[in-house]
Parts: sequence; structure tokens; C-alpha cells
Amino acid sequence: MKRFYPDFDTIHAFTRSLDYHQSDLECAHCFKNTQFVSHGIIYKQRSSTHVEKVGKRLFCSNRYGRSGCGRTFQLYIATEVPAYRYGAAHLFLFITALLSNMNISDAYHHATGQFESRNAWRWLKRLMVKLTHYRSFLKYRKDDGFSIFSSPNHYLQHLLPTLARLFTSTNNGCISYQTDRQQSFL
Ligand SMILES: [Zn+2]
Repeated sequence: MKRFYPDFDTIHAFTRSLDYHQSDLECAHCFKNTQFVSHGIIYKQRSSTHVEKVGKRLFCSNRYGRSGCGRTFQLYIATEVPAYRYGAAHLFLFITALLSNMNISDAYHHATGQFESRNAWRWLKRLMVKLTHYRSFLKYRKDDGFSIFSSPNHYLQHLLPTLARLFTSTNNGCISYQTDRQQSFL
């Protein structure tokens, strides 16, 4: 089942016609494709005054005579990084700043406006965990050519050559990874 979609309207249209889309649905747990029901909108609080629709839930229903397994699945717009406060737009600013040689806390401030940069280290640790996935997405191995990046930071030394291929001035690698792989970028 597709997890990431280009925009909210596409998710909404999909979840409003689940019978029509049965061939694109399969529950990862019970393998049924006929028991799904639309199960509400996922919102994200962008600021104290602004709330945005970022996805919808599907429920493999075990209620009202349906024989699903009772599990819930989340469908997201591809600009959203599930379970993280900030999305693809912020990661794009952070990563392109690192690629232009900005230090980690300045890059984090540039991306989020925050001065406390502890979360930047959480991002970097998570990017390290996912590094082999990005490389296989790019069909790029570490020993392809040599690194043009020299960083005193252990994480950046490993990450920047791959992130440079994933994120260019015109390509938000987070969105393209989530759209093509149907997996969360982080
Ligand atoms: Zn199920």
C-alpha cells in the first residue's frame, strides 16, 4: 500500500474511493484488501495559530460486521516526515546548509529558527542509520569516486557525499526518497 502521496487532495480522493482502489490496498498484517475504512485526518500543529492537514488514517476494520485485523495505517503527504516535528522543507534547508559548509548549530538555526540544536544531532544520528538505504536508492556505493568533503565531524564526513547526491539545489532528496521508496526519510 502506498504510504506517501503528492498532496492531501490525492490522499483524500484515494480514501473516499477505497472499493475502487482495492487492487492498490493490502493490509500488511492480515493481507485483506476489502476491509479498510477511512479513519480520520492527521493534523500537524505548525504554529500556535496554524494547523495543517498532513495525512489520513486507514483502519483495517474489525467492527460492524467487517473482518479486518483492527490495525490502523497512516497515509502522508510526501513533504511530511512521519513522527518528526519538522518536515522535508526544514530538512532541505538544514542539509543544503551543511553542504555549503555551515556548521551544525548554524545550519539548524537557519532551517528551524531554533537556537537550541540538540535536535540537529538526533537528525544526524538518524541520517547515519539510514545512510545505506540512501546509497542503495542512489545506486551509489561509498567507494564510487572520492569524497570532496572534508569535515572534522565524524557524522558529516560519512553523510555529506551521499547527501550531496540526494539533495541538489533543485531536488529535495527527502521528498523524492519518500515518493520513490514509499518509506520514511528518517
Ligand atoms: Zn488487516
